[in-house]
Amino acid sequence: MLEVRSITAGYDGSTALDDVSIEIRSGELVGLLGANNAGKSTLINCLSGIVKPRSGSIHFEGEDISGLDPHEVVERGIIQVPEGRLVFPQMSVRENLLMGGIGRQARALRSERMDKVLVTFPRLQERLTQDAGTLSGGEQQMLAIGRGMMAGARVLMLDEPSLGLSPLFVQYIFETIRSLHESGLTILLVEQNSNLTFRHASRCYVLERGRVAIHGPSSVVKDDPATRKAYLGL
Ligand code: ATP
Repeated sequence: MLEVRSITAGYDGSTALDDVSIEIRSGELVGLLGANNAGKSTLINCLSGIVKPRSGSIHFEGEDISGLDPHEVVERGIIQVPEGRLVFPQMSVRENLLMGGIGRQARALRSERMDKVLVTFPRLQERLTQDAGTLSGGEQQMLAIGRGMMAGARVLMLDEPSLGLSPLFVQYIFETIRSLHESGLTILLVEQNSNLTFRHASRCYVLERGRVAIHGPSSVVKDDPATRKAYLGL
């Protein structure tokens, strides 16, 4: 469904990704792991069109999407939920959700999608008129995921959804990710929390200093000594 072929990318003179290839099949939940600065965010920023690869290509359902702008990538249903959530703090929960559905195609389906988001996250229903800035970190994460659903996600890319959340919310967010996956959504999960990722993802890629150090079924990657080495950045 989504395929990254041998991309290299970076900033100014530095290289953040070097010859990286990954593949995500329709309906899969794939984990992307790695230590700080391994290149995880750069990779999903390439997928969402924010960072342009220097070489290599990205394909979605057979189409080369490497050169597309972020809004064109969103139109295809490839949606990034950014690290740190980035909700609009002075807008209500409802307005934040509506902002997710302003694309040309998303507009017609707004109320249907809103219903689905509010069934998925009853806490957002309770806080619909509240400013997003007053929500807890976990609730903001729900809102950020809900916004992605409003945009009509077919592939949801989650950048560190557990970051800074209390254990209870981490558990809740991961249960939600699991149920979104079970409902048919394709998910790329970027995490530092390797145990939770191994538990939920069927396959994982581990990045080490901009390269794929190891990839395969989570059960295999989990026990490979190379994973620990890459993860600890040794
Ligand atoms: P983290 O888990 O800390 O978010 P990461 O695995 O997502 O790390 P990236 O954020 O992709 O890693 O960073 C990869 C490399 O690119 C690092 O060396 C980082 O310093 C550099 N980098 C990331 N963003 C920028 C930027 N906007 N400008 C310059 N260098 C950047």
